[in-house]
Amino acid sequence: MIEFKGIHKWYNKKLHVLNDVNLFVKKGEVVVVCGPSGSGKSTLIRTVNGLESISEGTLIVDGINISDPKTNINKLRSEVGFVFQQFNLYPHLSVLDNITLAPIKVKKIKKSEAESIALDLLNKVGLLNKKDSFPAQLSGGQQQRVAIARGLAMQPKIMLFDEPTSALDPEMIGEVLKVMKDLAKGDITMMVVTHEMGFAREVADRVVFIDFGKIIEEATPEEFFNNPKSERAKQFLKQVL
Ligand code: ADP
Ligand code: MG
Repeated sequence: MIEFKGIHKWYNKKLHVLNDVNLFVKKGEVVVVCGPSGSGKSTLIRTVNGLESISEGTLIVDGINISDPKTNINKLRSEVGFVFQQFNLYPHLSVLDNITLAPIKVKKIKKSEAESIALDLLNKVGLLNKKDSFPAQLSGGQQQRVAIARGLAMQPKIMLFDEPTSALDPEMIGEVLKVMKDLAKGDITMMVVTHEMGFAREVADRVVFIDFGKIIEEATPEEFFNNPKSERAKQFLKQVL
């Protein structure tokens, strides 16, 4: 579903933030990306829906070569949902309208159909009773669950999460992780940047540890947590566990 082949990226032609990344993510897989702050995790997952360009290498997402400048990235974007650390809901739209906006505008789905999909998703994330609320009336955990529902409303094949619980108060982290765990049981492909190592242990098919833009370890959660190979991963785990 996602193939990174020899991916390099430089910011401003000098900061080497992705350094020969090779990674294959299969359909339905859940890959957790972890590593120190500034190691390139956000840059890496943002390349998957073209939010960041790459400087070198080949990136194929669902058979579409997005490293080819001739590729139209818009079609791909509707197949890839993205959930950010900051929930980024539209403040002037109700919860329901936040979720139906893209399906109606981008996918040209009928309003009634988009609403029925949205209500089903709101039910799944436990927020059906908040459909008419505005983002400012919701807690951070609730906003993030709406953001996940909004991403899913486009019926993407891939969902990307960039530290989805990092901006939340501790008591709200669990409710968001639960939604993500439920999602992971389905056949959607997920790449998740997170420091929630409990989530990684429980849900990930693979854990990728990245430092200075390089993949240092790529292992099953058991291998990674019980027997990290590199000194850097050991140090990292000491800090986050
Ligand atoms: P992480 O998500 O692991 O914290 P990032 O991918 O956000 O790391 O950043 C990797 C490096 O690239 C950092 O040194 C960061 O300061 C730098 N960086 C990120 N975005 C930009 C940008 N738009 N322009 C220049 N440098 C950037
Ligand atoms: Mg980041």
